[in-house]
Amino acid sequence: MPEIHEARRVRLAALVAGQGADAALVTHLVNVRYLTGLASSNAALLVRADGTAVLATDGRYAGTAARVCPDLECVVEREAAGVLAARAVGRLAYEAHDMTVERRDALAGELDGVELASLDRAVEELRTVKDEGEIGLLREACAITDRAFDAVLPSIRPGRTEREIAIELERTMVDLGAERPAFASIVASGPNGAIPHHVPGARAIESGDLVTMDFGALHEGYHADMTRTVVVGAAGGWEREIYDLVAAAQRAGVEAATPETATKNVDAAARDLIEAAGYGGEFPHGLGHGVGLEIHEAPLMGYDKTGKLMDRVPITVEPGVYVAGRGGVRIEDTLVVRADGAELLTKTTKELLVI
Ligand code: ZN
Ligand code: ZN
Repeated sequence: MPEIHEARRVRLAALVAGQGADAALVTHLVNVRYLTGLASSNAALLVRADGTAVLATDGRYAGTAARVCPDLECVVEREAAGVLAARAVGRLAYEAHDMTVERRDALAGELDGVELASLDRAVEELRTVKDEGEIGLLREACAITDRAFDAVLPSIRPGRTEREIAIELERTMVDLGAERPAFASIVASGPNGAIPHHVPGARAIESGDLVTMDFGALHEGYHADMTRTVVVGAAGGWEREIYDLVAAAQRAGVEAATPETATKNVDAAARDLIEAAGYGGEFPHGLGHGVGLEIHEAPLMGYDKTGKLMDRVPITVEPGVYVAGRGGVRIEDTLVVRADGAELLTKTTKELLVI
């Protein structure tokens, strides 16, 4: 839909003008996709302060570019950023968080009479609030994720390895229509559950284990992100205690996620409960993050983060408690911040499933 992408470029152009620059050189490929619709491994976009734009990409993507953004002038050139920078005049804002020092120095040497400045994360800022079309794609990514969880649940039993479960989740998501997994799936069983980003390995699930699964589907570029912890066999006292605590903290975080709320206060709504129960040291990460064209994007939510939530910002809320040597629980939903209360996109139950 070229109109949506053009509207995004017009909004960027206003930010560029506001920064006192004459044009922006967009090189972060996700940002190029956001502004043009072109998904590629080599492209750049020049957006001038007057709203006009030029795309550059190499011959592998020229046909796709002509199809998805027929309204844009497209230069076919392997050195996409260089060819566009050569067309710039005056002050050129570039994406300092994306460009290597080597590339920046080379550009500065090639350009005559052009002043380089940082665009900062202007496109990431634009991406934070989603339109309903984007939210629809995320909703579908999350629905695939929910269905995959239901389908794989019967496979979680003693003797199956973490790696087998991870691969089964990923294959099932693809069978159900995902482009691919949104990120490397986490399956952490028993004591491995105490490692928040455990890499699934050869450990076989045992009766009595807590098993944490963190995974999601990618759908048309949009990333779902969900975590559930289940117990195999029967839940003992400590497992149920930390499960109920994390579930209560997760509910508190979801309820606090309203427009205009400071992200650090959303984090605190969940963290305070965990700290009050004596597990503050066992929750060593932020409460969540924005999701969209990237799995981790603005806003990041933690006690040390600044900024506030806004209407139509998709985020995750994912508190956890990790008890070294024993195991852990994490519960994570992807949701959309709405004025009338959060819209949960991942809908799998948060009751403790005993399987
Ligand atoms: Zn996750
Ligand atoms: Zn996450």
